[in-house]
Amino acid sequence: MSLQPDLFDAAVLDPGGAAAVLPIDRKQLCCAKCKLAQSRINVVCGEGHMMEPAIMFIGEGPGAQEDAIGRPFVGRAGQLLDKMIVAMGLTRETVYITNVVACRPPQNRQPEPDEIVACSPFLLSRIKAVRPKTIVALGATAARTLLRSRKGVADLRGRWHSVGQGQDEIPVRVTYHPAFLLRSEGAQCKGAAWGDLQAVMERLGLRTKASAP
Ligand code: URA
Repeated sequence: MSLQPDLFDAAVLDPGGAAAVLPIDRKQLCCAKCKLAQSRINVVCGEGHMMEPAIMFIGEGPGAQEDAIGRPFVGRAGQLLDKMIVAMGLTRETVYITNVVACRPPQNRQPEPDEIVACSPFLLSRIKAVRPKTIVALGATAARTLLRSRKGVADLRGRWHSVGQGQDEIPVRVTYHPAFLLRSEGAQCKGAAWGDLQAVMERLGLRTKASAP
């Protein structure tokens, strides 16, 4: 995916900084570009370190708890993501966490193509503004959206991809969504996910630990 400059009109950090809100968040908070606006409680933009964090984690979309309080990954999947982040030797505050769509799809269904299209300019602006050193795509929706692919996680994980070009190029690693890991029996996918995160740590020069979260 190319990070087109015309999508980044708001790609500067809030000069005040105190509210920890990107200019693009302000636009998104009143967005009504798709039908998810009708049923949402909150627009869940993203949170974390906004200036060149080591990692931007990108999930699918808010669930009920995220919608209720307006923060990404605060439910069960979020608790597992927190453990994954800690196992990497990082904290939630040192990474950035967001989703492909910022409003909850009803009944936790997958976001529909028109909803992803409506939300993508916000995601791209956010990537451009935050300038993460790496991106971890959590699950198929994030991976397919970022990489413009129809493949599944099993096909896309295990190697490096990228978004953007030239100075804007950001390495992307695909791994399983924490909600999928919570549902999956056995250690195979969990082990694979830990291997994906270790590859990210290696690329960032972080010391890898022996054990998974
Ligand atoms: N699942 C996601 O993809 N994102 C969240 O914020 C929570 C659960």
